[in-house]
Amino acid sequence: MRIKVDAEKCEGHSRCYSLAPELVDVDDLGNAFELNDGEVPPELEDRARLIVDNCPEFAILITEE
Ligand code: SF4
Repeated sequence: MRIKVDAEKCEGHSRCYSLAPELVDVDDLGNAFELNDGEVPPELEDRARLIVDNCPEFAILITEE
């Protein structure tokens, strides 16, 4: 699985980072970006779906199942 944060949509609530710091980080402005080129280890796939579902801006996309 691979995820991507859409920087145009991200409003920097950091909710994703608090739920899955292994998958995303936030820059100095609070905007999120995916770690490890967006690649999600199999054991973190449920967590990836969690941050997709919890992003209030629908800014996190699953680009590869
Ligand atoms: S939860 Fe969504 S809007 Fe908030 S920082 Fe993460 S990607 Fe951006």
